[in-house]
Order: sequence, then structure tokens, then C-alpha cells
Amino acid sequence: MPVPGLGPYDDGNIFARILRGEIPCRKIFENEHALAFHDIAPQAPVHVLVIPKLPYVSFADFSAKASPEAIAGFVRAVGQVARDLGLDEPGYRLIASMGADGGQEVPHFHVHLIGGTRLGRMVT
Ligand code: IMP
Repeated sequence: MPVPGLGPYDDGNIFARILRGEIPCRKIFENEHALAFHDIAPQAPVHVLVIPKLPYVSFADFSAKASPEAIAGFVRAVGQVARDLGLDEPGYRLIASMGADGGQEVPHFHVHLIGGTRLGRMVT
């Protein structure tokens, strides 16, 4: 689904290339639904990106088009990564930038999992 400011899915985007193994990432989790890896420019002691394996350009695209199984699998993967990182007890923040006003830079849907410190009221 084309998203204003993003356009249709671009197979050449950096996360598509990571999924195809064309460029490296610091992987911490992978299953049939999702891949999780460290953000290259961390904004907190823990800053991980979780991306679906299938090509959705944004949250709007993913939420509208992905199957219930894919959505559930992705959400469970995010929770699993947070648990594996030991973040459940201190807590963490999830962010999904969407479109131009959301500041989305990479046009493959991703969730930022941020923690390892006491965060302020909002990350911008
Ligand atoms: P967005 O602004 O929500 O689209 O976030 C994109 C994120 O991807 C930013 O936090 C970038 O630091 C991160 N990023 C861009 N390229 C790479 C990469 O090659 N590996 C890991 N993270 C990346």
C-alpha cells in the first residue's frame, strides 16, 4: 500500500538488504516472522530494531495487509526479544515511526525496542 511520503515497497531499502543477507547486521533474534538486530546508531543503552520478514513499507501497510498470523507472530517476537534481553522487569519503550510526520527513514516496517535506562517522558 503506498504511503504518503514513502511510496510502494522498495526492494532496495536497507532492511530488505539486511533480510537478504546482502549487508551485515548485529542479529540478536530470528524466526519465521521477524528479525531483530541492534540499531546502528543507538539512542539508549539498548536500542534494537525488530522487523517483519515480509515486505511491508510501514506500520500502516503492515496493520492493513498482514495476516493475523503474521501480526501475532511479529508481536510475539517483539515480546520474546524484550524478555530475552531481560527488559521485562525494568521496562522498555516501543516506537514505530510512520511516514513523513512520524520521521520514518527506512521504508520497511520496524519497531524500535529501547531500554537499559530510565527513559524520559518521550523520545523524539
Ligand atoms: P526510523 O527513523 O524509524 O525509520 O528508524 C530507522 C533506524 O534504522 C534508525 O534508528 C537508524 O539508526 C537505523 N539504521 C539505519 N541503517 C541501519 C543499519 O544498517 N543497521 C542497523 N540500523 C540501521
